[in-house]
Amino acid sequence: MPRVQPTRPQLEIAVWFAVFLLLFCLSWSFHWHEGLDAFIEKHHDYPLDHALLALNISGFLGLIYSALRIRDLSREIHRRLQAEKNVDWIACHDTLTELPNRRFLESICAQAMADQRAQESYAVFSIDLDGFKKVNDLLGHDHGDAVLKTVAQRLSSLFPREHVFRLGGDEFVVLARRTGNPDLVALGNRIVSAIGKPFTFNGVAVDLGASVGFALYPENGDDLSQVMRHSDCAMYVAKKQGRNLVKPFVPSMQDEMTKRIRVEADLRSAIKKAEIVPYYQPLVDLKTNKIIGFEALARWKTASGEFIPPNEFIPVAEEAGLIVDLTDQLLRRACTDALSWPNELVLSFNLSPIQLSDRLLGLRILKILGDVGLPTHRVELEVTESAIIQDAVTARIVLDDLVNAGVRIALDDFGTGYSSLSQLSNYRFDKIKIDRSFVSSFETNDKQDKVIKAIIALGAGLGVTITAEGIEEESQLQRLQDLGCHIGQGYLLGRPAPLEELTADKAGAKVSQRR
Ligand code: C2E
Ligand code: CA
Ligand code: CA
Repeated sequence: MPRVQPTRPQLEIAVWFAVFLLLFCLSWSFHWHEGLDAFIEKHHDYPLDHALLALNISGFLGLIYSALRIRDLSREIHRRLQAEKNVDWIACHDTLTELPNRRFLESICAQAMADQRAQESYAVFSIDLDGFKKVNDLLGHDHGDAVLKTVAQRLSSLFPREHVFRLGGDEFVVLARRTGNPDLVALGNRIVSAIGKPFTFNGVAVDLGASVGFALYPENGDDLSQVMRHSDCAMYVAKKQGRNLVKPFVPSMQDEMTKRIRVEADLRSAIKKAEIVPYYQPLVDLKTNKIIGFEALARWKTASGEFIPPNEFIPVAEEAGLIVDLTDQLLRRACTDALSWPNELVLSFNLSPIQLSDRLLGLRILKILGDVGLPTHRVELEVTESAIIQDAVTARIVLDDLVNAGVRIALDDFGTGYSSLSQLSNYRFDKIKIDRSFVSSFETNDKQDKVIKAIIALGAGLGVTITAEGIEEESQLQRLQDLGCHIGQGYLLGRPAPLEELTADKAGAKVSQRR
């Protein structure tokens, strides 16, 4: 941006005054006034005295005019300098919180590295708010803005002598000089508790968390920019492990990040090439021993023939924003496959927790079913408790859209969440799937056995079908049948297999042979 060069009116005045003094001295030394007098004397018939008077007056008026112009000019320059300062401020600050922004941070890092202060030690904290999206979605952007301003104030008062930056969205950075040997984890925890204090706006209380990562200069990088990338990496790991965590950077985190970036790129390409396909695991009616449907389980077979399990790539797809495309592709494929099964068989399909905060999910699923021509009563969607807790309002809207259209909803991994009973009373599920962890140990653990019994009784009371997952042993199957569990699923009854290997009566036959 071109800068206005400030002219200095005082300097100009001084120059003009010097010229005047010089002329005065010259006329004094060389007696110019005597020559002028002689000239006027000689030509007294010319009106030279009048002309001189007029010249004097216009000179004087010129002086006043110049003074006024100089004053205007200096005001204009002042105004422009002020405007330029404002533009500079806006370019380097976040206008909402008034904190310096990423550009400022970069220039400060470069400056600190260039001058003497490169000798100093720093700690860089990267902070990301947990649950901020929910505030924006549920309470609106005004509340979101108010939260960000309050967070900025809380961080600034926690670090009054250090730089606090907002890098955009809900990301903040603190650049702190280190003297002595401060307890940085404790400092990180103070950030978490400062942000964790409830926010109240117009009587609405909002709870937020924060994930904090930090890295040190010079220990964790050759310059502050690199240290910042590392603290970001630590923050990313903290976020992945849950809410309100503080993580110092360790070099292995970078390997994890590099691996993730590679998996993300491979996943993107696998989705493009439709290399991720559904396998199907039978769901067996434990009274009649007949298969009543299949659960679709995603399988990614890489070019090298290696299978990457869904627990590894589904979270990456969620984080990279690829889950929508992946789900649409898998569901379309699974629905098409289900058309080739006998009409009474149900397709059970898993939804990611993150998807239930997408209001359009229900409509997209119904469109796929319509396009393929699979009736809604043949489809069951499996959701987990965490999916419903994350964004209860939107989840309800999405599930209502689907239920009203005739799709059934199963509560998956029941017993692993923390509010199972409240979910059951808040929403009418068609099915509850008891988590594998209960089934694997209930024979040797009397308490687990009682829990399973209670869940089956609860299902009977609520009129909800109960499925037991992860049945691997005959004795487990026997006990579940004795307890009156409705549906079974597990390696004993059939492993997940590709469409070509499905034999509709295989699992049923296994059950009857063992009875
Ligand atoms: P899930 O929904 O609980 O699926 C059951 C998991 O248990 C499957 O693992 C299945 O292969 C495994 N399993 C079934 N029977 C047995 C058994 O007898 N013993 C043992 N040890 N395991 C058994 P998988 O296929 O690796 O899937 C893991 C998770 O990934 C699933 O857990 C589900 O949450 C998720 N997932 C799979 N496919 C999809 C998908 O298409 N979309 C989404 N969003 N998630 C998916
Ligand atoms: Ca499932
Ligand atoms: Ca499950």
